[in-house]
Amino acid sequence: MMCRPRGRLYLEDHVTRPVTGDRVAFSLEKGQGWIHRIEPRHHVLQRRAPETGKVQILAANMDQILICMAAQDPPFRPGMVDRYLILCEASGIEPLLILNKSELLSPEELQTTLDPFRALGYRCLPISVYAKQGLEELRAELENKNSVLTGPSGVGKSSIVNFFEPALQLRTGEISAYTRKGKHTTTVSRLFPFLGGTLMDTPGIRELGLISVTAEELPRCFREMQPYLEMCRFRNCQHDAEPHCAVKEAVEAGEIQRRRYESYLQLRAEIIEETDPYASSS
Ligand code: GDP
Ligand code: ZN
Repeated sequence: MMCRPRGRLYLEDHVTRPVTGDRVAFSLEKGQGWIHRIEPRHHVLQRRAPETGKVQILAANMDQILICMAAQDPPFRPGMVDRYLILCEASGIEPLLILNKSELLSPEELQTTLDPFRALGYRCLPISVYAKQGLEELRAELENKNSVLTGPSGVGKSSIVNFFEPALQLRTGEISAYTRKGKHTTTVSRLFPFLGGTLMDTPGIRELGLISVTAEELPRCFREMQPYLEMCRFRNCQHDAEPHCAVKEAVEAGEIQRRRYESYLQLRAEIIEETDPYASSS
């Protein structure tokens, strides 16, 4: 049943539109559904629209974001994980890093791959749909929760969904399919009933726009940097070329992973490039 808003809908005094995951009060009249009210939202997944720079709410009331990666094929790229983590940190939604195809790595290699993320306090779960490993642990993480499923294509997202809910019968590669209409990228997302909760399918990170944060907001999205941010000599320190930067000192002291710091610099450069092509340092 399609429901339409009856008149304007307000949330905290703002006019708003229903988004994926909203809980609403509605009624049925003569075969038509009418939305009367949107319940207060917790945990909104948002992005900054690359076209307008405006913040868009993509989904509400999500308990966790499943960042799905493959141990191999496509190769595991930690910098890619960082991009998804930023999205989670910016939205304040807890991530769960799922490493599928883990049968392709030795236990030692798995540990080397995941330990740097575990050290940051992120939950990580190696699984294999093929070898039926880790799937019961994963089920326990998914049951009765509202989860956002994201990750690059080819890592096994559709295979995971089909394993738990065979009735959905997704074609492999179907999750994260998106459509392009002219120059505008439509952020198609779907919500499935899933293991007693819901599963939201998202477009890939490119479509979400890495740039869900500004260069100023970026340091906060690297959670291990947070304790140092107030300790730099310059209050507006960008933790880049400035002297007496507490973040850089923490990198030198081995308290912040160098790879993560380099990832920060890289993403910062990308954000600056994207938001102001003339401001990039040469
Ligand atoms: P999606 O694009 O993320 O939805 O990925 P798919 O579910 O379409 O899977 C991509 C490919 O990886 C398919 O050929 C799957 O058969 C394969 N695949 C899925 N799970 C595993 C696994 O645990 N191990 C290996 N080696 N391949 C897998
Ligand atoms: Zn600094």
